[in-house]
Amino acid sequence: MAHVNTAVHQSATVLRITEIFYSLQGEARTVGRPTVFVRLTGCPLRCVYCDTAYAFTGGTMMALTQVISEVAAYQPRYVTVTGGEPLAQPACLPLLSALCDAGYEVSLETSGALPVQAVDPRVVKVLDLKTPASGEAHRNDYRNVSCLAPHDQVKFVVCDREDYEWARFKLDEYSLADRVGDVLLSPSHEQLAPRELAEWILADNLPVRLQLQLHKLLWNDEPGH
Ligand code: SF4
Repeated sequence: MAHVNTAVHQSATVLRITEIFYSLQGEARTVGRPTVFVRLTGCPLRCVYCDTAYAFTGGTMMALTQVISEVAAYQPRYVTVTGGEPLAQPACLPLLSALCDAGYEVSLETSGALPVQAVDPRVVKVLDLKTPASGEAHRNDYRNVSCLAPHDQVKFVVCDREDYEWARFKLDEYSLADRVGDVLLSPSHEQLAPRELAEWILADNLPVRLQLQLHKLLWNDEPGH
């Protein structure tokens, strides 16, 4: 039994990390703010437009305490835990709580496919709802919607008009604009012109925020930014 307990203990305190880096927040409500990103390795989804496929495999095993001290070295105010799909690693939950305990404003970028119920309530969840054109809409776990708090955010990456109409329907079906502080609509890079999405939003007077990915404009999506 002692052997089993050790394995459980390790899985809760060790993480596979693709990268830890300091950059400007590229998305969501804190866009433009200096932020430390902790990118966890691995994702069970395969969205057609994925821009972080380099985080699917590889990475370095790190103790949770080591991750916390690397983050602290940047003396940040904001920390974003991302992936891949960070919640695919059990130690993501204690990591999020430890970052909150350390006094940072912490956000979590998650695909919406894995349960968010156990995420520390101090964490701002940025929850994707995967649209039909992502190829992964069947993975959305809609039970997550009832776990959202007013400080959380919902994001749709929109690839085409059909995706837009789908997002509009979900916005209404789950009263998302009343449930969370921001509903973000982001045009899929090189698939939908931002201006087109902007015009659709205005024409329908949608209670959402158009989001352009700042890190793509600044650094063309190079890893480490
Ligand atoms: S959930 Fe995110 S990391 Fe995973 S495949 Fe989709 S876009 Fe890529």
